[in-house]
Amino acid sequence: METLQRTLAIVKPDAVAKGAAGDIIATIEQNGFRIIGLKMLHLKKAQAAAFYAVHVGKPFFDSLSAFMTSGPVVVLALEKANAIADWRKLMGATNPANAEAGTIRKKHAESIERNAVHGSDAEDTARFELSFFFSGYELAK
Ligand code: ADP
Ligand code: MG
Repeated sequence: METLQRTLAIVKPDAVAKGAAGDIIATIEQNGFRIIGLKMLHLKKAQAAAFYAVHVGKPFFDSLSAFMTSGPVVVLALEKANAIADWRKLMGATNPANAEAGTIRKKHAESIERNAVHGSDAEDTARFELSFFFSGYELAK
């Protein structure tokens, strides 16, 4: 039996604003992920900057922070065997121009920045990102 893994997903402000959150959440469930935590938040600048600290100094950092604070997001804790890689695959490439057919970014992303969803990229970042948004008591058993 494969070991269950957890990852952090975000439906970004562009997707929430255009009413795609429900479609994205349904796609998550249809692809075998168990939602063990879910909340809607409107991030403050400092929170977005802390979450994306790994990107400090990159040319797109200020714009990314502004985008991520431009409206509400939906954050989800997901569980599944191989959840981290499988969620990244379902999201599609960062730049929607390179996203494969059938991926969420192919369907919903507007640009390399306004690209609909976020997903943790490794076990250590998943741990950091899950604990950034969820306390242990908030996650379903
Ligand atoms: P991913 O979200 O696929 O893990 P990155 O971690 O590289 O991608 O970047 C984080 C986020 O920053 C992206 O999802 C996107 O919103 C934004 N971003 C990345 N690269 C660029 C870029 N070249 N120009 C503008 N925004 C970018
Ligand atoms: Mg990333």
